[in-house]
Amino acid sequence: MDTERVAVVGAGLMGHGIAQVFAVKGHAVAIYDPFPDVLARVPERVRANLRTLGLSETAAERISLHSTLEDAVKQADVVFEAAPESLALKQDIFAQLVAATPPDSILASNTSVIPIGNIAAKSDDPRRILGTHWWNPPFLIPLVEVIQAPRTEPEFVEKTIALLQRAGKVAVHAKRDVPGFIANRLQHALWREAISMVAAGVCDAETVDLAVKNSFGIRLPVLGPLENADLVGLDLTLAIHNVILRDLEASGEPSLLLQKYVAEQQLGMKTGKGFYEWTPESTQEVRDRLIRHLRAVLQKSEAVL
Ligand code: NAD
Repeated sequence: MDTERVAVVGAGLMGHGIAQVFAVKGHAVAIYDPFPDVLARVPERVRANLRTLGLSETAAERISLHSTLEDAVKQADVVFEAAPESLALKQDIFAQLVAATPPDSILASNTSVIPIGNIAAKSDDPRRILGTHWWNPPFLIPLVEVIQAPRTEPEFVEKTIALLQRAGKVAVHAKRDVPGFIANRLQHALWREAISMVAAGVCDAETVDLAVKNSFGIRLPVLGPLENADLVGLDLTLAIHNVILRDLEASGEPSLLLQKYVAEQQLGMKTGKGFYEWTPESTQEVRDRLIRHLRAVLQKSEAVL
């Protein structure tokens, strides 16, 4: 059944894209944002995305705009929260959602890293609160991690996974509410080692990126790390780990180099300098290259099978 009424709370980068995914699949979607100008921009943002994807713009008409949270969610079967990444704000929103929604509607947070159990801590009905971690842009990246918090009812997890699968997403189940869920833990384990090598003078940033993009990075869409371990053999994997693990970065604190850059407002593309120097043109070039690549890969992908 593809008729669930979807509501989205927060109409920013992620919220408008999540709304679009369900509107394209024929769901009625109600979206709320406290800022009228952000809300008013949703239809045009969605139409622009649909034009880029070569899809009909009529899906945008299935998204209704709401200036109060209660109005947006009162008939929702499932709510996706994509408000700013603040624990206090999300706790407050979920307490309101429990009161404002039908008693069996699913309430999902798109938090990047905050444990779902903490977000649910101030609500009266944690059994229907879970995480759905989408990736940007939500209408292109297939994965959505569905996070089961300690007090989430398994039935709501199953329903959410089925809903996301019907919407064309690759939904995976994080059975424990660990920070970073699944894919961000893996991604940031890699980034920690990458930054550590630059800080230690093993190589520069460009060399790290060149090495990744021209080696295991090419294989990753079709060969996950554990398939790869089986491919090379677990005996070889063990032999490598016996030598290398004690030498890998294992600090529980962010790198001093990263902390220094941030303190100096060297924040990356948005300030013109990070690990690299950036101009508006080179920044746009990277963004365009990424979208072109994602569209090309996803059009003929075996990656998600
Ligand atoms: P964003 O700033 O683009 O959007 C947040 C929206 O929430 C804004 O439009 C803002 O007006 C609105 N908002 C502010 N106060 C609100 C309130 N009280 N109630 C409802 N809405 C409110 O941010 P984003 O990048 O879309 O991130 C939203 C969430 O998704 C965050 O939790 C973020 O960590 C998570 N997330 C982001 C990404 C990403 O790549 N940007 C990826 C995965 C998850």
